Amino acid sequence: MSGLRWENANRRSYCSVASSMKRARHYKRVLLKLSGEGFGDDDGHGLEMERFVALAKEIQKLSRTGVELAIVVGGGNILRGAKFGGRGKSRVQADHVGMIATAVNALLLQDTLERFDISARVVSAIEIANITEPFVLRNCLQYLQEKKVVIFAGGTGNPYFTTDTAAALRAVEIGADVMLKATQVDGVYTDDPVKNASATLYKKLSYMDVLNKRLGVMDLTAISLSMENKLPIIVFNINKYENIGKAISGKAVGTYIGE
Ligand code: UDP
Repeated sequence: MSGLRWENANRRSYCSVASSMKRARHYKRVLLKLSGEGFGDDDGHGLEMERFVALAKEIQKLSRTGVELAIVVGGGNILRGAKFGGRGKSRVQADHVGMIATAVNALLLQDTLERFDISARVVSAIEIANITEPFVLRNCLQYLQEKKVVIFAGGTGNPYFTTDTAAALRAVEIGADVMLKATQVDGVYTDDPVKNASATLYKKLSYMDVLNKRLGVMDLTAISLSMENKLPIIVFNINKYENIGKAISGKAVGTYIGE
């Protein structure tokens, strides 16, 4: 499977000769990127609690497999900074609000997970004292080893960035084997499948393909960071929740992006 990086000790993909006889779980430590729209209504806006519940149920199943799961949540269901103001102070302020929006999703996800007996920690890049924990890599690694779900809020903590970039950054920092990028469609297409019915799905792409074709699946910073650090990305449809487990177990879902 092309996602394996045998030569990179930091990546903790495991797939021994023995496991090829019965492939159980392919990826051991996973960074799941959930855009805010996945928590919203059919138009991707607002907060629909049943979406949180559906996701928590799926994560509950995954937790039985022993996978180490970290999640970066977006905030686009509440606010995206780029839509407000152009540049300068008002944009920065809007981005601050966007980062707080990610914390809203993170806290609701944590609460929902806990209702399903899944231990989860919200770790924020912006200080929200008394409610979330600050980002301390050492603590996050400890939580993952203890099989606690780590939910990263606040993106990178800086304006003019996105939570996709935060996802790539955190994935590299925690030494994740893969980034699972949840979207509203089945993966990366030749064109927007919502507008163009003849658009076809890419099964596999290189980082350079994504950059050169400007496929727009993630911002360029996120793709570049992933490429530099050989972090595989699987883009899949979040509305089919079972896809998360399939992707983790090495089954082909969506679009695989790698070298
Ligand atoms: N944001 C930011 N810095 C970051 C991550 C996010 O300023 O490192 C702000 C930005 O305004 C962004 C909003 O938070 O639009 C929500 O994040 P994003 O748009 O990535 O959420 P998603 O589209 O994944 O729901």
